[in-house]
Amino acid sequence: MLAPYAATDAASRGRAYPEPAPAYRGEFQRDRDRVIHCAAFRRLEYKTQVFVNHEGDLFRTRLTHSIEVAQIGRSIARALGLNEDLTEAIALAHDLGHTPFGHSGQDALNDCMQDYGGFEHNLQSLRVVDVLEERYAEFPGLNLTYETREGVLKHCAPKNAAALGELGRRFLEHRQPGLEAQLANIADEIAYNNHDVDDGLRSGLITAGQLRSVALFAEPHDEVARRHPGLDARRHVYETIRRMINRVVTDVIETSRRLIADSGANSIEDVRHRPAPLIAYSTGMREKTRELKHFLRDNLYAHELVSRTTHGAKKIIHELFAAFLRDTRLLPTQYQDKIRAHASGDGVAVARIAADYIAGMTDRYAYREHARITGQDVA
Ligand code: MG
Repeated sequence: MLAPYAATDAASRGRAYPEPAPAYRGEFQRDRDRVIHCAAFRRLEYKTQVFVNHEGDLFRTRLTHSIEVAQIGRSIARALGLNEDLTEAIALAHDLGHTPFGHSGQDALNDCMQDYGGFEHNLQSLRVVDVLEERYAEFPGLNLTYETREGVLKHCAPKNAAALGELGRRFLEHRQPGLEAQLANIADEIAYNNHDVDDGLRSGLITAGQLRSVALFAEPHDEVARRHPGLDARRHVYETIRRMINRVVTDVIETSRRLIADSGANSIEDVRHRPAPLIAYSTGMREKTRELKHFLRDNLYAHELVSRTTHGAKKIIHELFAAFLRDTRLLPTQYQDKIRAHASGDGVAVARIAADYIAGMTDRYAYREHARITGQDVA
C-alpha cells in the first residue's frame, strides 16, 4: 500500500510523448523495464566505479553498483510506503550517463568540453534516456515518465537547468523532487560508501586497522569481534559491512518517517514544495557518514595507485576528444551522419556529438579506440 505522499501512476505528470497505459504493468514498471533493455544499461557492466574493470573480477562496476542502489532503495521505499517501482527505475538509470574510467573520466571530459558548454554526468544520464537511446519507432529516447526523469537529474548547474523547462526549475527555485528521487539519491550514497569499504579492503589499498578510526566501521567491527571471536578476517569484514548498511538504512527510515510526519506532506506536490529533503539521515548519522566519506576520499580515492590509473584515463579521454575534433571522419559513421544532419559548421554541436560518443564508451572500448586512433597502447 502506497502512502499519500508516494508517486502514483494516477498523479504522474506523464511522458513527453503520450502513450496508452500498459496493460499488465504500472507506468514506473514500464520505465524500469525500458532502462533494463537499453544499450547504455548493458555498458555499465564495463564501466569503472572506482577500480578499473580489468583490475579484478570481484570489484564493483557501475552495473553492480546500480543494482545495489536499487536494492537499498527498494528496502527503504517499502518501509516508508513509497513507490518501489519508481525508486528502482531511478536507481537503475541514475548512472547511465557516466563516462568510462569513473570520476576521472567525467572530469577529463568536462575539461575537454569547457568551451562547448561543459559535461555533467547527471545531465548526460538524462540525455541518454531522453534522446541518445534510439530504440523505439514513435519517439526518441526511452520516453520515460516525468517522475523517473526528475530522479535521474539529481544535480544540475543553473545555466543548464534554465534550458530544461519544468524539469530544471527546481534547481533554480531550490525546491525538492519527489520522495522516490530523494531516496534514490541517498541510496546511491549508502551503496558506494559501503561497497567502497569492501572494495578498498579487498584491493589492499586500505586496511581494517586504518578504518577503525571511523566510528561507523569501528562500532560494528567491535560488535562482530565480541559475538564471533576468531572469525576469519574476510567474514569479519562482511559481517561488519552488513551491519553498517543495516544501521544506516534503519536510521534513514526512522528519520525520514519522522520528518515526513512533521512536515504534514500529503501528496507528491507537497513534497516538491518543501525547501529541504524529507528523506535524510539523523544528525548523528550524517556526521558519521561524513567521517567515512572523508576517510575514503583521503585514503582510497586519493591513493597513489588509484590516481595512477586515473592519470592514464584522463590522457585517453583528452586524446580521443582532440582527435575527433581534429578529424570527424575518425568517428563511427552514425556519428558522422549526425554531424551532417544536425551540426555541420557548428563547432559546439560537433563537440557535443564527440562527447556523447566518448561518454558512451566502456573502459575497454575506450582503450581500443585510443589504440586504433593513436597507435599507442596505454592499457
Ligand atoms: Mg551512483
